[in-house]
Amino acid sequence: MSTSRYALDRYAVIGHPVDHSLSPILHASFAQQTGQRMRYDLLPAGRTEFRSVAAEFFAAGGRGLNVTIPFKEEAAGYCDETVDSARSAGAVNTIRYVDDASKPFTQGFNTDGVGLIRDITENLGWPLRDQHVLLLGAGGAARGAMVALLAQGCASITLANRTLSRAQQLVRELAAAEAQSSAEVVIRTQALARVVEPADIVINATSASLAGKGDLIAGSVVAGANCYDMLYADTQTHFCKWALANGAGSASDGLGMLVEQAAEAFYLWRKVRPDARAVLAQRKGLFQTRKDRVEQP
Ligand code: NAP
Repeated sequence: MSTSRYALDRYAVIGHPVDHSLSPILHASFAQQTGQRMRYDLLPAGRTEFRSVAAEFFAAGGRGLNVTIPFKEEAAGYCDETVDSARSAGAVNTIRYVDDASKPFTQGFNTDGVGLIRDITENLGWPLRDQHVLLLGAGGAARGAMVALLAQGCASITLANRTLSRAQQLVRELAAAEAQSSAEVVIRTQALARVVEPADIVINATSASLAGKGDLIAGSVVAGANCYDMLYADTQTHFCKWALANGAGSASDGLGMLVEQAAEAFYLWRKVRPDARAVLAQRKGLFQTRKDRVEQP
């Protein structure tokens, strides 16, 4: 559907719940930085409403959606076309509406993996090549991370999950999707409780920090390691606190991943690359702006 030539291009983040999302703040900053005329809103949807709310948004002229919990897997099935990384991960976090004159269609991407790798290697400066990586979790976030990590030339990747069968299933699915790179990378799966071997990089892709739990594995595993918690918060996450208390070399939360995945989505939509680091540097301001928005009467 065509929109008025004077209307702003519309984007949104769809999720359930979505009211605490930082995405509108990130994209407003990117738009301001790059001089792009666009609007980015929160798009709440009931648990069973993803398809109808997304379809209505695009029918009304929406140009693109970010997709968050719990709809990433459903979004992969919704899109008319998905790029390889999204197909392998079985999860889409960015949808682009392509206004093809003969037949408009939706394209699905997964920018979470790119965001994670950029934050770890470029913002934090932690190398991944030849490193022993321990990835905790086997949910949606771990899927995107695994696909991206497989292309980084790691020496080994151990996927550990509370429910071992989910980790095994994920590795089987990636093998079936031929997502594993041709590079020699040793892949292991383990139950969280059995992880004892030290790693160079430990990435927490579980939601345990949300429930106030940091001690997922034996403390000796993180001694000297670079530890990354995908969860982010305005205060140190439980996992980061626990890792540093157990001798981790350094620890970071996942705000940089969020900002980098948003920057990649912005680039896919607008063909202009924003300065993600400049936005990441405003960490306190991002959380304060969200607090002000959430507390608005
Ligand atoms: P999910 O699909 O619900 O998966 C949750 C994972 O956490 C599962 O592997 C689950 O294990 C594990 N888990 C939950 N509670 C646990 C506990 N108490 N002890 C041990 N393991 C536990 O969630 P998700 O979408 O993958 O998200 C995971 C985390 O990543 C969340 O904190 C989310 O906020 C974060 N995330 C951040 C970004 C970013 O941009 N920074 C992007 C995506 C996600 P079982 O399989 O055994 O249940």
